[in-house]
Amino acid sequence: MPIISDNILDPAIAGHERQQQDLLHALRTSRLGHAYLFSGQSGIGKRLVALALAKALVCEQPDDRAPCLRCRQCKMVESGVHPDVQVFSRDKSVYSAEYMRESVLDWAARTPREGKAKAGILLDVEFLANASANVFLKTLEEPPAGTYWFLLSGRSGHVLPTIRSRCLDVRFAPLKRDDVERLVRGPLKGAVETIASEREESSLGTDEREFLLDFAEGSPGRYMSLLREDMFAAFEIVRGAASAKPTPFDASEKILAHLSRAEDTTQEPLRERLHLLIDLLERDAHARDGGGSSDHFRKLHGSLDANANPKLVADMLVLHHCVMPREQQT
Ligand SMILES: [Zn+2]
Repeated sequence: MPIISDNILDPAIAGHERQQQDLLHALRTSRLGHAYLFSGQSGIGKRLVALALAKALVCEQPDDRAPCLRCRQCKMVESGVHPDVQVFSRDKSVYSAEYMRESVLDWAARTPREGKAKAGILLDVEFLANASANVFLKTLEEPPAGTYWFLLSGRSGHVLPTIRSRCLDVRFAPLKRDDVERLVRGPLKGAVETIASEREESSLGTDEREFLLDFAEGSPGRYMSLLREDMFAAFEIVRGAASAKPTPFDASEKILAHLSRAEDTTQEPLRERLHLLIDLLERDAHARDGGGSSDHFRKLHGSLDANANPKLVADMLVLHHCVMPREQQT
């Protein structure tokens, strides 16, 4: 794939060429907005583009406004230690008002230490609720001179209108399957191997690799988290449930054992993994029945959200899998 490096912020970023070109163009023509909302599925590279733009803002030797990626400033951003480029993530289940005041606003009020500009990157801004957003709105709307905000969201439909209306929108599309494959075989290979080596079977089989690429939905980040959560094995347990001995309910015990982690202190992580497994099974079913069983999956998600016992949900999941395929074939 040809890369027109003149128009790209960072040639190492897979995909998002148009977004990079548009942002670089805005920078070159002095039309860069002071606040952006980057939306698009999580794990596809929004943060990388925001960081590349941050490098462009602070770079010592930019090439026609594109970052050199070699100078001290660029390298400090790359290693996450640049005082004027800060990535913020929610401190609790949501961003708290206290955190917005004491961390985000406090950082925004400081003059740039290195001099050129400041870039604040907020991850998952759909978790910015009203009270916390209100603390932030004025700074978002009228940031100190030379300060830029990049707000990122994987679920931009959930971002508050008060936040959204103060930002310029940049939408990011999922990567192509080939691009994800290239990344996990190239730059991410080491990380993949490290995760795989922490499991009993140390490498990925072809089936698992295909599964991960199929369900990554164009997101290298999702590929890595499916791998980290060992979802392929859980998926296989459900698929083999009909032949589980002595009963399918043994399969649901196995699923729960597989999805539980020694470090879990509450049921929440297990519930999250069950939600994820239900998503995967729904996608798989959808490919075969065109959405005919979506009510069933909605019920499963709903039961989990209503605090149903995870074992009960796993039973429902397994039972459906044992019964439904035959019904749907008629
Ligand atoms: Zn540089």
